[in-house]
Amino acid sequence: MARCGGSKPDSSPCERIVPGSFCYSHDPDRADERRRAASKAGKSKPNREVADIKRRLSELADGVLDGKVDKGVGAVASQVYNVLLRAIGMELKVKEVEELETKLEEMAEALERQKGGSTYGSTG
Ligand SMILES: [Zn+2]
Repeated sequence: MARCGGSKPDSSPCERIVPGSFCYSHDPDRADERRRAASKAGKSKPNREVADIKRRLSELADGVLDGKVDKGVGAVASQVYNVLLRAIGMELKVKEVEELETKLEEMAEALERQKGGSTYGSTG
């Protein structure tokens, strides 16, 4: 097993561990297969955006749960990502977006739990 020899769209090295020399995304022998898959899934840009948000969201969730990210920042950021995902979802109805929304809901619930019994409407 070795690291893939390809590079990501942002030109950083691909970090996938693969049995051969390249992962599915970077294997030159699979270029045709990828192109067919890509055209079936629509344009690749929204997919990239979703993948990017997914990565950030995971990092954000981990950060909040580890206590490295401020809860308030985490809450606001997750709301922003939620809006972003809805906008992308309108042009790309993929299951992935629904999965991310579920993840966001889980995150929001985790944040609520962390607040620990604070109540709304007490500042009248
Ligand atoms: Zn790769």
